Amino acid sequence: MTEDIVHHDPGCLFCKIVAGKIASKVVYEDDEVFVFDDIHPWAPVHFLMIPKLHIPSLAHVGPEHVGLLGRMMVLAPQLALRAGCEPFPQGGFRIVSNTGAQGGQEVHHLHIHVMGGPRPWLRG
Ligand code: AMP
Ligand code: ZN
Repeated sequence: MTEDIVHHDPGCLFCKIVAGKIASKVVYEDDEVFVFDDIHPWAPVHFLMIPKLHIPSLAHVGPEHVGLLGRMMVLAPQLALRAGCEPFPQGGFRIVSNTGAQGGQEVHHLHIHVMGGPRPWLRG
């Protein structure tokens, strides 16, 4: 399904956030990855990790994205600690990537939710 990928979709909310057209609270940024706080947090720590490339969902990735996704996974625990999650095993965090309508995806730009911090959480 990788033929659906465009580098930037002008109608996409998260592409607008990457471009700075919509304000966000930036947690981290590099050449390929943009990370910002979720506007409606479920947990004391709740940020979203997205590729700068407009990939609509996790259902759209192919072998060319192995490096990108691997780097995002390796970054997640580092950023979780930096954002205030307590260390494993007492602390930790949850990652979620809602994919498609039945997966509960609302924004169609691949994103990984990273949630953590003391419980109870609002959801989850
Ligand atoms: P989902 O597509 O269901 O995995 O979730 C999309 C997430 O994006 C939700 O948790 C929203 O709270 C979050 N969100 C929507 N608009 C913004 C925004 N402008 N800034 C930060 N987070 C947002
Ligand atoms: Zn996008």
